[in-house]
Amino acid sequence: MQDLIETSVETATAVELAGVSKRYGDVLALDRADLTVRRGERVALLGPSGCGKSTLLALIAGLEEPDGGALAVGGATDARERLAQCALMPQRDLLLPWRSALDNACLALENQGLSRAEARRRAQPLFAELGLAEFERARPSELSGGMRQRVAFLRTLLAGKDVLLLDEPFGALDSLTRAALQGWLRDALDRERRTVLLVTHDVEEALLLADRVAVLSPRPGRVLAEVAVDLPPGTRRELVVSAPFLELREQILEALE
Ligand code: ADP
Repeated sequence: MQDLIETSVETATAVELAGVSKRYGDVLALDRADLTVRRGERVALLGPSGCGKSTLLALIAGLEEPDGGALAVGGATDARERLAQCALMPQRDLLLPWRSALDNACLALENQGLSRAEARRRAQPLFAELGLAEFERARPSELSGGMRQRVAFLRTLLAGKDVLLLDEPFGALDSLTRAALQGWLRDALDRERRTVLLVTHDVEEALLLADRVAVLSPRPGRVLAEVAVDLPPGTRRELVVSAPFLELREQILEALE
């Protein structure tokens, strides 16, 4: 197992799970899950509720340790070293209510030792690039759910980590806002090429945002199938009705059954 992980450093593997199991008391959350994610690749983890998707992210991020198997991030197996390379975006935005949107995003930079002024100088251009220009001074309570998730994503991006772990980033939003944000995130990720693991239970979201979809079984979670997503460029509306998109969707729905 260790050999496998050491080799992976040379082959530019960002995240590697080999036979990873995790148990919480009597509940076996994950059962021998295998997954390899290359640097710069975007992988969606798709599976039914409770199948261990969030557990998988917590393990990768070094917040939990596996009970069996091996896992590494950038070749590092130690939990603290894994954590140092990952930025985790949870379902709920967790923005600080007393800080402006800009200063919430700046937190990630201040945590790296930058002064508030320097952090603002760095974060400001990204606000404009990602369509948030007019919201810098707004407090979280003045923003919609979709806006708050965008700010939370920006903060995740500004943490400057190689691996982004996005845990159902749009799970709490209505379907229209969700569709708009999927297009937005697709563009944002195209600009900032990072390694991304995206947890979702939405097949369309997985296809729109990922290069590859890993389909998990119901609990205990295990990677059942992996589907490469190679779609032509296009807007969300064009893609979701295109033949290749519908074919992939069918393939994934079959694997989920
Ligand atoms: P998903 O993200 O796919 O919905 P989770 O990873 O959140 O699934 O949970 C998988 C299983 O593990 C669930 O049955 C959940 O109740 C259990 N679980 C997750 N975290 C804990 C924990 N900290 N303590 C006890 N049980 C947990």
